[in-house]
Amino acid sequence: MQNTIRRKPEWLRKKITPSSHKAMEALMGERHLHTVCEEAICPNISECFRQKVATFMILGALCTRACTFCAVSKGRPAAPDAQEPENVAQAVRRLGLRHVVITSVTRDDLNDGGAAHFCETVRAVKALDESIVVELLIPDLKENQAALEAVARSGAEIIGHNVETVPRLYHVRKGADYERSLRVLKMLSDTNPAVATKSGIMLGLGEREEEVLALMRDLLDVGCRYLSIGQYLAPASGYAEVVEYLPPERFEFFRSAGMEMGFDYIKSSPYTRSSYMAHEYRKRSDNKEA
Ligand code: SF4
Repeated sequence: MQNTIRRKPEWLRKKITPSSHKAMEALMGERHLHTVCEEAICPNISECFRQKVATFMILGALCTRACTFCAVSKGRPAAPDAQEPENVAQAVRRLGLRHVVITSVTRDDLNDGGAAHFCETVRAVKALDESIVVELLIPDLKENQAALEAVARSGAEIIGHNVETVPRLYHVRKGADYERSLRVLKMLSDTNPAVATKSGIMLGLGEREEEVLALMRDLLDVGCRYLSIGQYLAPASGYAEVVEYLPPERFEFFRSAGMEMGFDYIKSSPYTRSSYMAHEYRKRSDNKEA
């Protein structure tokens, strides 16, 4: 059973070509920046880096939580780097990005969870050019209302917070709470209805169809407009196990079901990640096509 599960099906054989990462790695190194593409071992890294697209991971590379599905290193992080917002902006300028995705590790050690640093980074990017679309993917900030309101009013056009999986499987998301994540999304859209809220989930952890459909309804109830759905891939042994590799048709089933329920846009495929083809959501939500 174990071997069958670990052997990836043919639709999950994307090639990683480290030689195509060099320019991006050099830029990030020069600016002392981290990307979630590298830290979370994203399977799309070669494709995205070749296209000069990356998701910035601010507030350091060490996370204060210990989710068992996530490859980002855990530990005690250093104080936020005051130069980081400007360094992100300069990297955005060099890459010529028109849609920027910025995420962070979870910083439960900071009073505001890093909200002020997120806001400063949005300001630095918008100072380059107000028309650059900024998308934030934030942790739950321990539901700190002032912190969430600040982020909601930061100027970012899209703010994501991932519920990751159905509530029954929250043992993989240590320190998190499904209901709290829903309240976070609601607080963001209640504070600033101009912001489009987004969430993301992984399939393949053992969730049932009816649980995924119920999760989608929960997200819609709190005003969430965008959703990403991808296959969970265990980063290495010792992480949460893959229970199932779902075929592409199942991703299409959930995409289509969710769109019928009322999402503005859903990207759903085995290789979809929260920030994968992030520029598509706004552009394609008007006509609600895949
Ligand atoms: S999908 Fe997102 S996290 Fe993955 S490589 Fe692309 S930009 Fe980075």
